[in-house]
Amino acid sequence: MKIIDILKLKDRSLSFEFFPPKNKEKEMLLFKTIEKLSKYSPDFASITYSPTGLSKEKSIMWSKALKYKFNIEPMMHITCISSTKDEVSKILQQLKNDSIENVLALRGDILDNETFLRNSAFSHAIDLIKYIKSLDDFCIGCAGYPEGHIECKNLEKDVDYLSKKIDAGAQFIITQLFFNNTHFYNFMNLITKKGIKVPVISGIMPITSFNQILKFTNICGATIPEKLIEKLQNKSDDYVFNVGTEYTYNQCIDLIEKGFKRLHFYTLNNSKAVEIILQKLLSTKHI
Ligand code: FAD
Repeated sequence: MKIIDILKLKDRSLSFEFFPPKNKEKEMLLFKTIEKLSKYSPDFASITYSPTGLSKEKSIMWSKALKYKFNIEPMMHITCISSTKDEVSKILQQLKNDSIENVLALRGDILDNETFLRNSAFSHAIDLIKYIKSLDDFCIGCAGYPEGHIECKNLEKDVDYLSKKIDAGAQFIITQLFFNNTHFYNFMNLITKKGIKVPVISGIMPITSFNQILKFTNICGATIPEKLIEKLQNKSDDYVFNVGTEYTYNQCIDLIEKGFKRLHFYTLNNSKAVEIILQKLLSTKHI
């Protein structure tokens, strides 16, 4: 089923992101994680994609596993950086053959400018969205950035580009992680002013390790509130996990109570924190 048709049916949704593991042991762990999280009846789950294209077979394999083994609607991420049109069309054909109807169309991070300029047929995600639309009837999602994309100095300009991705055919938005809901509310105001009406799904990363959130925020440019840094730095792993998951739980409550009931968890292939948060949200009847 197309994710947009699922989203149209209700004003709340639950979804998870997984990445293709590198070895057999980690694959077994991911099977267990999906098994545990499937009990929460997610509306869909997504599988990440490496811009090098090296793990594309694995991304396809895990998308198929979601659909046929776990009965979860899959969405595969596709990054267009360093890809040729031919490569993209072959991947889409494979997805079509396996009846996978949903893709998250992304540019990918520019790791090596020279290689990118030489190889890529696509400069931005919008080029990929247009190309996918020209080939077939996929349901296409795109990325949005509550604090602005790291390369874009101006949030309003970033939202301008986002609205162009929607005009080109993206049907819903999944946001980058954020730890301060104020950024998300500001972003929602901006996109509403821009006339963007598609569903927006909040990207939620449970805080389980201080070093890990530092690493992710360094890569994507999201910020961590000062008070949270003070609370978590130089503390034991258990303390960070407990305080961090409580923080994420409260973040979800605030979103839901303000009417933003679409949650997409960046699971990092681990169910523990997500389950704690979901159990609490269930017990307080927020989901
Ligand atoms: P774009 O929309 O192309 O935007 C990139 C930059 O270009 C922005 O600064 C934007 O303001 C600017 N821009 C956009 N359009 C134009 C235009 N027409 N002209 C000029 N400038 C423009 N990465 C992976 O490698 N694999 C994944 O699986 C993956 N999954 C992700 C999932 C989510 C939900 C999110 C939020 C991100 C994910 N990423 C992933 C990271 C993503 O690839 C990077 O953030 C990347 O740098 C930008 O991708 P984009 O699709 O937002 O690019």
